[in-house]
Amino acid sequence: MQRRQLHLPDEAATARLGADLAQALAPGLVLYLHGDLGAGKTTLTRALLHAAGYQGRVKSPTYTLAEPYEVKLAERMVTVIHFDLYRMASPEEFLEAGFREHFNENTICVVEWPEKGDTVLPAPDIELTLVLAAHGRDVELCALSDKGLECLARLKFAPNL
Ligand code: ADP
Ligand code: MG
Repeated sequence: MQRRQLHLPDEAATARLGADLAQALAPGLVLYLHGDLGAGKTTLTRALLHAAGYQGRVKSPTYTLAEPYEVKLAERMVTVIHFDLYRMASPEEFLEAGFREHFNENTICVVEWPEKGDTVLPAPDIELTLVLAAHGRDVELCALSDKGLECLARLKFAPNL
């Protein structure tokens, strides 16, 4: 399934999708999160990290641009790196910070505001787009690689229960 559309009636549903995604992720994956300010990108990432066992506070790394979390997924330690590129001034900043090396087979990279990374950001396996709806949010997940397809196939999200 290459494309999947879901409705998230409330914040709890967004959190549930984040938690379900955590179970479906595999090391090496790159996930782009699209959506306006307040769409729910950080809410989803926070739920994903908590479901992966991280117990501390999760806030968007607005000024540091990237925050790593050591978590355990499927009995294996993996580093989930949460990027928020909203305040990144230029793509060069991404390169100078050495962020490209963060994208490898041992990490899972979740990127808010990938648009700001433009030409320097590694390609995604999955693009997730959150859109404000009359009630709640609509979300579309799109797989762009075999790894992304396998992840979406593992994703067990039962909407609106
Ligand atoms: P972003 O990171 O995209 O800027 P945040 O996650 O910081 O957005 O904020 C999203 C806001 O929307 C939060 O106040 C959260 O409570 C709310 N929210 C998240 N998901 C939903 C939903 N499905 N329906 C309604 N409100 C939601
Ligand atoms: Mg955010």
